[in-house]
Amino acid sequence: MLKKGSLFVISGPSGVGKNTVINEFLKNNADVKLSISCTTRHPRGGEKDGINYFFLTKEEFENDIKQGKFLEWAEFNGNFYGTKQEYVEKTLANQQDIILEIDTQGAMQIKKKLPDAVLIFIAPPSREVLENRLKGRGTESDEVVKKRLNIAIGELEKMKDFDFVVVNDDLSNAAKELENIIKRKAAK
Ligand code: ADP
Ligand code: 5GP
Repeated sequence: MLKKGSLFVISGPSGVGKNTVINEFLKNNADVKLSISCTTRHPRGGEKDGINYFFLTKEEFENDIKQGKFLEWAEFNGNFYGTKQEYVEKTLANQQDIILEIDTQGAMQIKKKLPDAVLIFIAPPSREVLENRLKGRGTESDEVVKKRLNIAIGELEKMKDFDFVVVNDDLSNAAKELENIIKRKAAK
Protein backbone atom coordinates (compact mmCIF):
# COMPACT_ATOMS: atom_id res chain seq x y z
CA MET A 1 0.00 0.00 0.00
CA LEU A 2 1.18 3.53 -0.77
CA LYS A 3 2.32 5.61 2.19
CA LYS A 4 0.07 8.54 2.99
CA GLY A 5 1.35 12.07 3.66
CA SER A 6 1.89 13.39 7.18
CA LEU A 7 -0.30 15.86 9.01
CA PHE A 8 1.32 18.66 11.03
CA VAL A 9 -0.68 20.82 13.41
CA ILE A 10 0.79 24.17 14.36
CA SER A 11 -0.71 26.16 17.24
CA GLY A 12 0.33 28.92 19.57
CA PRO A 13 -1.03 32.13 21.03
CA SER A 14 -2.29 34.87 18.76
CA GLY A 15 0.56 37.16 17.68
CA VAL A 16 3.37 34.68 18.48
CA GLY A 17 4.29 34.56 14.79
CA LYS A 18 2.70 31.32 13.53
CA ASN A 19 1.92 32.77 10.09
CA THR A 20 5.33 34.40 9.81
CA VAL A 21 7.27 31.26 10.78
CA ILE A 22 5.17 29.00 8.53
CA ASN A 23 5.60 31.34 5.55
CA GLU A 24 9.35 31.47 6.13
CA PHE A 25 9.43 27.65 6.25
CA LEU A 26 7.31 27.34 3.08
CA LYS A 27 9.75 29.54 1.10
CA ASN A 28 12.20 26.63 1.09
CA ASN A 29 9.67 23.81 1.33
CA ALA A 30 7.07 24.50 -1.31
CA ASP A 31 6.21 20.79 -1.53
CA VAL A 32 4.47 20.97 1.88
CA LYS A 33 0.83 22.11 1.63
CA LEU A 34 -0.86 24.61 3.95
CA SER A 35 -4.55 24.12 4.64
CA ILE A 36 -6.69 27.25 4.18
CA SER A 37 -9.19 27.48 7.03
CA CYS A 38 -12.73 28.81 7.00
CA THR A 39 -13.65 31.63 9.37
CA THR A 40 -16.55 33.91 10.22
CA ARG A 41 -14.25 36.75 11.31
CA HIS A 42 -13.91 39.78 9.06
CA PRO A 43 -10.86 39.99 6.78
CA ARG A 44 -7.99 42.17 7.99
CA GLY A 45 -6.64 44.77 5.58
CA GLY A 46 -4.75 42.90 2.86
CA GLU A 47 -6.32 39.50 3.57
CA LYS A 48 -7.92 37.79 0.59
CA ASP A 49 -10.70 35.23 0.38
CA GLY A 50 -9.33 31.85 -0.73
CA ILE A 51 -5.75 32.85 0.12
CA ASN A 52 -5.62 33.68 3.85
CA TYR A 53 -9.00 32.16 4.71
CA PHE A 54 -12.30 31.25 3.19
CA PHE A 55 -14.43 33.98 4.75
CA LEU A 56 -17.92 32.63 5.50
CA THR A 57 -21.05 34.05 7.09
CA LYS A 58 -22.13 32.49 10.37
CA GLU A 59 -25.03 30.87 8.50
CA GLU A 60 -22.75 29.32 5.88
CA PHE A 61 -20.40 28.06 8.59
CA GLU A 62 -23.24 26.51 10.61
CA ASN A 63 -24.54 24.85 7.47
CA ASP A 64 -21.13 23.29 6.84
CA ILE A 65 -21.03 22.05 10.46
CA LYS A 66 -24.43 20.40 10.00
CA GLN A 67 -23.27 18.73 6.81
CA GLY A 68 -20.22 17.33 8.58
CA LYS A 69 -17.74 19.12 6.32
CA PHE A 70 -15.24 20.03 9.04
CA LEU A 71 -12.40 17.84 10.22
CA GLU A 72 -12.31 20.14 13.27
CA TRP A 73 -13.75 23.51 14.20
CA ALA A 74 -13.75 25.82 17.20
CA GLU A 75 -14.97 29.16 18.45
CA PHE A 76 -12.15 31.64 19.06
CA ASN A 77 -12.87 35.09 20.47
CA GLY A 78 -16.48 35.09 19.26
CA ASN A 79 -15.84 33.77 15.74
CA PHE A 80 -15.89 30.31 14.21
CA TYR A 81 -12.79 28.79 12.62
CA GLY A 82 -12.61 25.37 10.94
CA THR A 83 -10.69 23.03 8.66
CA LYS A 84 -12.56 21.42 5.77
CA GLN A 85 -12.04 17.66 5.74
CA GLU A 86 -12.00 17.10 1.98
CA TYR A 87 -8.83 19.00 1.07
CA VAL A 88 -6.86 17.48 3.96
CA GLU A 89 -7.93 13.94 3.04
CA LYS A 90 -7.12 14.42 -0.65
CA THR A 91 -3.70 15.88 0.13
CA LEU A 92 -2.76 13.05 2.48
CA ALA A 93 -4.03 10.40 0.03
CA ASN A 94 -1.83 12.09 -2.60
CA GLN A 95 1.17 11.36 -0.36
CA GLN A 96 1.69 15.04 0.33
CA ASP A 97 2.42 16.53 3.74
CA ILE A 98 0.08 19.20 5.05
CA ILE A 99 0.15 21.84 7.79
CA LEU A 100 -2.92 23.00 9.72
CA GLU A 101 -2.43 26.33 11.50
CA ILE A 102 -5.21 26.16 14.09
CA ASP A 103 -5.93 27.01 17.73
CA THR A 104 -5.27 24.63 20.63
CA GLN A 105 -8.92 23.49 20.82
CA GLY A 106 -8.72 22.37 17.20
CA ALA A 107 -5.32 20.77 17.82
CA MET A 108 -6.79 18.61 20.61
CA GLN A 109 -9.64 17.50 18.33
CA ILE A 110 -7.13 16.45 15.66
CA LYS A 111 -5.02 14.57 18.21
CA LYS A 112 -8.09 12.51 19.18
CA LYS A 113 -9.25 11.86 15.60
CA LEU A 114 -5.84 11.35 14.00
CA PRO A 115 -3.33 10.17 16.61
CA ASP A 116 -0.51 10.07 14.03
CA ALA A 117 -0.68 13.85 13.55
CA VAL A 118 2.42 15.72 14.74
CA LEU A 119 1.55 18.61 17.08
CA ILE A 120 3.91 21.60 17.13
CA PHE A 121 3.49 24.56 19.48
CA ILE A 122 5.04 27.93 18.62
CA ALA A 123 5.89 29.70 21.89
CA PRO A 124 6.95 33.30 22.52
CA PRO A 125 10.32 34.06 24.16
CA SER A 126 8.32 35.91 26.88
CA ARG A 127 4.85 37.27 27.55
CA GLU A 128 6.15 40.80 27.02
CA VAL A 129 7.41 39.94 23.54
CA LEU A 130 4.07 38.33 22.74
CA GLU A 131 2.19 41.46 23.81
CA ASN A 132 4.51 43.71 21.79
CA ARG A 133 4.13 41.57 18.66
CA LEU A 134 0.36 41.45 18.94
CA LYS A 135 0.17 45.22 19.45
CA GLY A 136 2.91 45.87 16.86
CA ARG A 137 1.01 43.98 14.14
CA GLY A 138 -1.53 46.78 14.36
CA THR A 139 -4.39 44.73 12.95
CA GLU A 140 -6.66 44.66 16.00
CA SER A 141 -8.24 47.24 18.29
CA ASP A 142 -6.89 47.62 21.86
CA GLU A 143 -9.96 45.76 23.10
CA VAL A 144 -9.40 42.77 20.81
CA VAL A 145 -5.68 42.72 21.68
CA LYS A 146 -6.63 42.50 25.37
CA LYS A 147 -9.03 39.62 24.73
CA ARG A 148 -6.46 37.76 22.62
CA LEU A 149 -3.85 38.16 25.37
CA ASN A 150 -6.29 36.68 27.88
CA ILE A 151 -6.92 33.71 25.58
CA ALA A 152 -3.13 33.38 25.15
CA ILE A 153 -2.72 32.54 28.86
CA GLY A 154 -5.00 29.49 28.41
CA GLU A 155 -3.26 28.53 25.16
CA LEU A 156 0.18 28.59 26.78
CA GLU A 157 -1.08 26.08 29.37
CA LYS A 158 -1.85 23.64 26.54
CA MET A 159 1.79 23.63 25.39
CA LYS A 160 2.47 20.47 27.43
CA ASP A 161 0.08 18.44 25.25
CA PHE A 162 2.15 19.08 22.12
CA ASP A 163 4.86 16.84 20.64
CA PHE A 164 7.27 19.73 19.94
CA VAL A 165 7.74 23.31 21.10
CA VAL A 166 9.49 25.87 18.89
CA VAL A 167 10.36 29.18 20.54
CA ASN A 168 9.95 31.99 18.01
CA ASP A 169 12.72 34.35 19.04
CA ASP A 170 14.92 34.73 15.95
CA LEU A 171 12.70 34.11 12.90
CA SER A 172 15.18 32.19 10.75
CA ASN A 173 16.14 29.93 13.67
CA ALA A 174 12.48 29.19 14.39
CA ALA A 175 11.78 28.40 10.72
CA LYS A 176 14.85 26.13 10.62
CA GLU A 177 13.72 24.30 13.76
CA LEU A 178 10.30 23.79 12.23
CA GLU A 179 11.95 22.47 9.07
CA ASN A 180 14.03 20.00 11.08
CA ILE A 181 10.96 18.66 12.88
CA ILE A 182 8.91 18.36 9.70
CA LYS A 183 11.72 16.73 7.68
CA ARG A 184 12.33 14.22 10.46
CA LYS A 185 8.67 13.28 10.80
CA ALA A 186 7.41 13.68 7.23
CA ALA A 187 5.87 10.57 5.67
CA LYS A 188 7.49 8.20 8.15
P1 ADP B 1 0.20 34.74 14.47
O1 ADP B 1 0.03 34.12 13.12
O2 ADP B 1 0.76 33.79 15.48
O3 ADP B 1 -1.03 35.44 14.99
P2 ADP B 1 1.89 36.67 13.05
O4 ADP B 1 2.66 35.77 12.16
O5 ADP B 1 0.82 37.51 12.45
O6 ADP B 1 1.32 35.88 14.33
O7 ADP B 1 2.98 37.62 13.76
C1 ADP B 1 2.59 38.64 14.68
C2 ADP B 1 3.56 39.81 14.55
O8 ADP B 1 4.85 39.43 15.03
C3 ADP B 1 3.77 40.28 13.12
O9 ADP B 1 3.81 41.68 13.08
C4 ADP B 1 5.11 39.65 12.72
O10 ADP B 1 5.76 40.40 11.75
C5 ADP B 1 5.85 39.65 14.04
N1 ADP B 1 6.84 38.55 14.19
C6 ADP B 1 6.65 37.25 13.92
N2 ADP B 1 7.76 36.51 14.18
C7 ADP B 1 8.70 37.39 14.62
C8 ADP B 1 10.06 37.26 15.07
N3 ADP B 1 10.68 36.08 15.12
N4 ADP B 1 10.71 38.38 15.46
C9 ADP B 1 10.08 39.58 15.42
N5 ADP B 1 8.80 39.78 15.02
C10 ADP B 1 8.11 38.70 14.63
P1 5GP C 1 -6.70 34.87 13.52
O1 5GP C 1 -8.02 35.57 13.73
O2 5GP C 1 -5.57 35.56 14.26
O3 5GP C 1 -6.39 34.64 12.07
O4 5GP C 1 -6.81 33.42 14.16
C1 5GP C 1 -7.23 33.27 15.48
C2 5GP C 1 -6.96 31.85 15.96
O5 5GP C 1 -7.72 30.93 15.21
C3 5GP C 1 -5.50 31.45 15.81
O6 5GP C 1 -5.11 30.75 16.99
C4 5GP C 1 -5.52 30.52 14.63
O7 5GP C 1 -4.50 29.53 14.70
C5 5GP C 1 -6.87 29.86 14.82
N1 5GP C 1 -7.38 29.21 13.62
C6 5GP C 1 -7.20 29.56 12.32
N2 5GP C 1 -7.80 28.67 11.52
C7 5GP C 1 -8.36 27.72 12.32
C8 5GP C 1 -9.09 26.52 12.07
O8 5GP C 1 -9.36 26.12 10.95
N3 5GP C 1 -9.49 25.82 13.16
C9 5GP C 1 -9.22 26.22 14.43
N4 5GP C 1 -9.64 25.42 15.44
N5 5GP C 1 -8.52 27.32 14.70
C10 5GP C 1 -8.10 28.08 13.65
